[in-house]
Amino acid sequence: MRLLILVMLLACATPPPPKPAPLDPSNPDAPEAPLPARSTALDAPKVEEPPPPAPSQEDGYTCPMHPEVKQPGPGRCPKCGMDLVPNKGGGGHHHHGGSR
Ligand SMILES: [Zn+2]
Repeated sequence: MRLLILVMLLACATPPPPKPAPLDPSNPDAPEAPLPARSTALDAPKVEEPPPPAPSQEDGYTCPMHPEVKQPGPGRCPKCGMDLVPNKGGGGHHHHGGSR
């Protein structure tokens, strides 16, 4: 008979306690309560930095052997006939990934 009493106790404890609805507008603890403008600042888009200018159109093309030779586009050096290379600011660094 003990089991029956236990079941009755559980049945009595089943009804939930009276709680205010979470969406009740009159409840100050409701999650739907309007927050101050703090969240708006988080949604504000960040200020993007302007992209750096393309370095390919700075000085055009030049001859690796004759720095005085400059052309706005690719071509050949009129002095030695070599293919002109894009003139990059601050050069003098040759990379020869050949025989090693
Ligand atoms: Zn040249």
